[in-house]
Amino acid sequence: MSALPSVFISHGSPMHALEPGAAGEAWAALGRSLERPKAIVIASAHWETNIPMLTGSSRPETIHDFSGFPDPLYRLKYPAPGDPALAQRAQALLREGGFAAGIDGSRGLDHGAWSPLLYMYPHADIPVVQLSVQPALGPGHHVALGHALRPLAKEGVLVLGSGHLTHNLRDWDRSGRAQPMPYAQAFQRFVFENIESWNLDRLAEYRALSPEGVRAHPTEEHFLPLFVALGAAREGTRPERIFDKIEAGALAMDAYVFH
Ligand code: ZN
Repeated sequence: MSALPSVFISHGSPMHALEPGAAGEAWAALGRSLERPKAIVIASAHWETNIPMLTGSSRPETIHDFSGFPDPLYRLKYPAPGDPALAQRAQALLREGGFAAGIDGSRGLDHGAWSPLLYMYPHADIPVVQLSVQPALGPGHHVALGHALRPLAKEGVLVLGSGHLTHNLRDWDRSGRAQPMPYAQAFQRFVFENIESWNLDRLAEYRALSPEGVRAHPTEEHFLPLFVALGAAREGTRPERIFDKIEAGALAMDAYVFH
């Protein structure tokens, strides 16, 4: 097996789990296009901790970590198995990388993880380990986290980051009919250009260097999974943006594969 790419997905509203839309179709196509992984490590914006944590359960439950959505969404399950051995392997790699990483034996999968995986791997037959983000520690820390996990790609493990390219819920148009807001488009371009030129230092300074950075991410947790995926990419990677729609006016749904 050749080394797998790393991937970043903007997971969108939990409603994608019921109504795939163009994003869900893109995630399904992505799942079909990638070499089938043996297991998945996915960093989700919806698990925030002080130190990197991994799920260690062999049967992680489906967490419905949202409120005010239709009942059928709460009945959805993503019954993929966990992979306690992989959680330990990832923990060891993180510790080698200098991180105090832990394993949570009871935590399940949140919608940041299971909503895109529902489309990428609909049979839920690939083991999943979830990784938390540390919002207090910023982008550079998350690049280093991804970098520490890089050996997993050669072991058949797909490293994924699930967050959002832009995530300002105050700008979210709930009618879903709003045209893309220019600042969201400008921030999309800023990110795209810095990924194309692989200028991760500049990208990590997005709050200072992009006029739209703070508005695009009033808080950082949804942007950090991108940095995990960037850090996990192999040397000389070829970035490919596979999706770039903006939903509800302000939510850029960009997805990248780092081949
Ligand atoms: Zn989210």
